[in-house]
Amino acid sequence: MKFACDVMLGRLARWLRLFGYDVFYRKDADRSALLRVAREEERIVLTRAGNFRELSEIPPYFIITGDDLDEQLLGLHRAFPSLDPFAGFLTRCAECNVLLEEIDKKDHQDSIPPKAMLIEGRFCRCPACGKFLWPGTHVTSIKERLERLFPDA
Ligand SMILES: [Zn+2]
Repeated sequence: MKFACDVMLGRLARWLRLFGYDVFYRKDADRSALLRVAREEERIVLTRAGNFRELSEIPPYFIITGDDLDEQLLGLHRAFPSLDPFAGFLTRCAECNVLLEEIDKKDHQDSIPPKAMLIEGRFCRCPACGKFLWPGTHVTSIKERLERLFPDA
């Protein structure tokens, strides 16, 4: 399952990437660009635009309702029950939509704070923006939020 989010859904796009999903999102992509990418790359369009269904020749799409992120995620999960927030959790950069590379933290001691060096687990880096990710407090709070939201997942 791959998605293409319209310009209104940047936050949702980043969260879906955190789940591991491949999500096209660009602030400068207008509707025709969004639809073209969705068609070419077989993506499901996620949009806030209510007038979407008036268009002809549209790729599969789902209209996102609600301003609250939790509400949007739950709505999406109801529409796509196979959406699994944990299947590819933290395998993709939320900003770049690129798969993260697993690294040996010892090779990057200069870039990782000493406190984080003590943490056990999977350390990753985004090959596009260079950002490091590890099972720290930020990641834990994301995971807790998802576990609250999807207790059965
Ligand atoms: Zn990145």
